[in-house]
Amino acid sequence: MDGRRRVLTDHDVLAVDDRIAAIGPALAVPEGTVEIDAAGGVVLPGMIDTHRHLWQTAMRGYGADWTLTQYFVWYYLEWGKTFRPRDVHAGNLLGAVEALDAGVTTTVDWSHGLRTIEHAEAAVDALRSVPGRFVLAYGNIQDSPANWTGTPEFRAFADHLAGDDMLGFQIAFDVTGDPEFPEKAAFEVARDLDVPVTTHAGVWGATNDDGIRLMHDHGFMTPRTVYVHSASLSTDSYHRIAATGGSVSVSTESEQSAGQGYPPTWVIRAHGIPVSLSMDTSVWWSGDLFSAMRATLSADRAREHMAAHTKGDTVTHSALRAEQVVEWATMGGARALGRESDLGSVEVGKKADLVLIRNEHSPAMFPLLNPYGHVVFQAQRGDVDTVLVNGRIVKRDHKLVGVDLAAVRAEVERTVEYLRAELGEQEWQKGMNPDVPAAEVLDNPYTYTEYRGDTRPGGQSSDGRTQ
Ligand SMILES: [Zn+2]
Repeated sequence: MDGRRRVLTDHDVLAVDDRIAAIGPALAVPEGTVEIDAAGGVVLPGMIDTHRHLWQTAMRGYGADWTLTQYFVWYYLEWGKTFRPRDVHAGNLLGAVEALDAGVTTTVDWSHGLRTIEHAEAAVDALRSVPGRFVLAYGNIQDSPANWTGTPEFRAFADHLAGDDMLGFQIAFDVTGDPEFPEKAAFEVARDLDVPVTTHAGVWGATNDDGIRLMHDHGFMTPRTVYVHSASLSTDSYHRIAATGGSVSVSTESEQSAGQGYPPTWVIRAHGIPVSLSMDTSVWWSGDLFSAMRATLSADRAREHMAAHTKGDTVTHSALRAEQVVEWATMGGARALGRESDLGSVEVGKKADLVLIRNEHSPAMFPLLNPYGHVVFQAQRGDVDTVLVNGRIVKRDHKLVGVDLAAVRAEVERTVEYLRAELGEQEWQKGMNPDVPAAEVLDNPYTYTEYRGDTRPGGQSSDGRTQ
């Protein structure tokens, strides 16, 4: 995908140092150039995830059956403060390596477990040890944003981190809607430091239009502001976001499962608000943007069909195309981060952040007729053959380069062991297996006997009762 979203076939891409130097058929290349055969595959821009709580990766999959309420109780109220700097390091390391493996070359680490500067240093150490591009979005759910952004330690840390091409900086906090606007001081710090703010907005039951209105009234909505989710806002809030030029980071797998609101691409694209994609957290969901693209396209289309059906209509042409969600996963992220001039597309002069999807062992990788459709609905992270970040090969022949996965695993295992001991076995199990609310199977007018079929071993009927 180049800057005009053209699909170029039988072209070569030449990377020299950290940049794309040439694109064209049968390129002449300098002697000593390493050649990577991309025939039968797709070369696409490195994908960009604009909202990922990397520190939670050490608890991968633990909260698969959570609601947002259960997530808040577990991390914000009960166990988030148990995480030590080394646990933040372990989660970040695993999540950062996972991102590269899946072709996500830039990740915003929405790091809201930074209770102390030592936690923040651990987060940064992990990100710097992985050859990907990251943005540390500094946050701390255990204290008010005005407090933690107001300390001299935070200032010193932020100053120390400024202006790095491989590691950017944002400030991450949420706006409660309290009419006193206690977040005002944190916004002022961000403005002083000239750092963008990223905020979970339009989260059902947590953040709403009041927060947007307060931000707008005080002049804190800027083109660099990233509104995560924005799934349950009014038209007025969408107008304010559109008018001030900010973008929305849509985490469809998250919104579908946790309940922030319906994945909002259907409404934000109607307002012309720029979109980027994100995975949120792998304590619940997957951590790759193939899943994000697929979920987002499907959710948007599902909403459109539902809206038509309630009016008795039929959708005969899909409005949202595969090409558009690939754009969101690449250029959309670059724009959200103010990096559209050097990331997000395969163009001469841009950074050589490139992904090659190719898998000769997969029957799902041919025929390759519609590249955008193939990337969204056919390909998956296992098909990522090669990844370049800043011109450096970080994955080749389906294997990460220079990553000691055994060491990462050992570190994560130590964190899991520690957390499990801190919680105790009962809490650990309770956290992972929340109660299922009672549900009744509806009466069925076509059932005229008591017999419901004894189809499963052990005599369980289809409604779960033992016969
Ligand atoms: Zn989030």
